[in-house]
Amino acid sequence: MFSGGKKPKDVRNLKAGNFLLTIQKYRRTYALLLVSSVLFLSCKENPSEKKVIQESTIKAVEVIDTVPKEKIVSKKTFRTFENLADTTFVRLADFSDGFAYDLRYATENNFLKEKVYDCAECYTRVKTVKALLAANANFKKEGVRIKFYDCYRPNSVQYKMWAIVPNPQYVANPKKGSIHNKGGAVDITLETLEGQELDMGTDFDFFGKRAYHDNFDLPQEILDNRKLLKETMEKHGFWSTRTEWWHYNLSGAAKDKIANFKWKCD
Ligand SMILES: [Zn+2]
Repeated sequence: MFSGGKKPKDVRNLKAGNFLLTIQKYRRTYALLLVSSVLFLSCKENPSEKKVIQESTIKAVEVIDTVPKEKIVSKKTFRTFENLADTTFVRLADFSDGFAYDLRYATENNFLKEKVYDCAECYTRVKTVKALLAANANFKKEGVRIKFYDCYRPNSVQYKMWAIVPNPQYVANPKKGSIHNKGGAVDITLETLEGQELDMGTDFDFFGKRAYHDNFDLPQEILDNRKLLKETMEKHGFWSTRTEWWHYNLSGAAKDKIANFKWKCD
């Protein structure tokens, strides 16, 4: 029935054949493994290249990112006085970024306890700007700068203020007008270049003897600060009023006309 003794040998031969085939198979696999490991190793070297590529890509992005910023800084330019009459009204911030501002009438933090400006802006006549720039350059040598409480004030706002406090001791009569309405007066103090206000003895619009220039009954530091403010402003064509240490008028500005334009708010 069965071919008896031959079978086991065939089976052995078959097994031997299979074994050889298996070895061949493994060889192929081994060879494949070798090839793939070489590829893998060579691939392993690639990540560093990739890293380099990635780094250079990041650097490129960084470069792209910094260029516009530098451009913005270098593009910052200010207006010049070319073709501008001395009496033209202009915005001070268009000529310099060296001043500080705390425009109180655009807030409720003032003696009226009311906001009478739509927005905070410091406008004044060209000749006043020129004198302020010169004074501020002088102050900077002393490590301080001008900080504004008020600049040009439209005549309509003067009427608003008069309606709230109709007392000529505190508010100029709008019919007669204030030098603020004429673009020749500024209310200022001094602060360090780091933004620390100098002690002047009273707040802005403090109505009382402590705010007077001829009140010398004050600590020496306050007297020195007021002296620096007054002497520098006088050197640059401004004169002071006896009862308000913060108020300065440009010489000859009283002769200018009362103005009533309103600056634009965004
Ligand atoms: Zn004033």
